Amino acid sequence: MDLLNDLKKIEKKAEKELKEVADLDKLEEIRIKYLGKKGKIQSVFSQMGKINAEQRPVVGKEANILKGKIENWLGKHKEKLEKKAAEARFKEEKIDVTLPGAEVKSGREHPLTLITEELEEVFIGLGFTIAEGPEVESEYYNFEALNIPEHHPARDLQDTLYIDDNYLLRTHTSPVQVRTMQSQEPPVRIIAPGRVYRSDELDASHSPIFHQAEGLVVDEDISFSDLKGTIELIVEALFGKNREVRFRPSYFPFTEPSAEVDVSCIVCGGEGCPLCSRTGWLEIMGAGMVHPNVLEMSGYDKDKYSGFAFGIGLDRLALLKYGIDDIRVLYENDQRFLHQF
Ligand SMILES: [Zn+2]
Repeated sequence: MDLLNDLKKIEKKAEKELKEVADLDKLEEIRIKYLGKKGKIQSVFSQMGKINAEQRPVVGKEANILKGKIENWLGKHKEKLEKKAAEARFKEEKIDVTLPGAEVKSGREHPLTLITEELEEVFIGLGFTIAEGPEVESEYYNFEALNIPEHHPARDLQDTLYIDDNYLLRTHTSPVQVRTMQSQEPPVRIIAPGRVYRSDELDASHSPIFHQAEGLVVDEDISFSDLKGTIELIVEALFGKNREVRFRPSYFPFTEPSAEVDVSCIVCGGEGCPLCSRTGWLEIMGAGMVHPNVLEMSGYDKDKYSGFAFGIGLDRLALLKYGIDDIRVLYENDQRFLHQF
């Protein structure tokens, strides 16, 4: 047994194999082959028990020197191969500035924003101004000042979300009427679009958050025919010339007389279809002459001034206008839906 000769052979072989190595995986294979626990150097160490005692330190020393040598070679090759691999990667990743850029998707206007803006434009054209009010409203403005005193049954009709004993999330945009009348003298012509809240269960036609636009006109000698004329103009602007409008008697505490306003169905034109529940009509708003109590509580002379008010459901308007059959899609912010507008 000549372990020193074995070491020489191992050295030659390792040197040759390392010269030929072309990639990092192969290099790792070689490392294991020579320096691993079951590798060639280790096998020399494990055979040392079989040689005579004087030779052992010599072989041990040579084996350690070779081990260091191979480690050194491996390190150098590794560096070289890594550099080569990186260069190849850079070449591959080189940016081709002539390629078209990735599309950046921009946001679109929400259908509720579109319908609100469209409505505002119609009203501005009729000489109205835009008014706003707070969404967290006092009981006074939401109910009392609108002729809905405590224990009035109309309070139960609206499932109110209360903040505390005195404040609530407004259930309608009508409080803006009162706030406007308190802050300015007639004539008044305002449209007040905004969010309103009720504790409704979410389903295809109800949402606890929805949108209304409140309209108010107060001046001397304002009559029901002014209300009718204004609404007919709005319907024409929103739905086109060929729509019929009808007024059905209704009840709201803050208007007298009150009416529900229907427009002939935009799908069937009045013959009856699923959208209009076969009635030929679509309900689009509530309206009426401002109740004298409301004028009086807002500080207006009810004998001198009169006015009309109306409330349009903007969500419903958007659903009708864009042919959507489920109010929930307006609040889910699904990009696939929003990008259609
Ligand atoms: Zn219809």
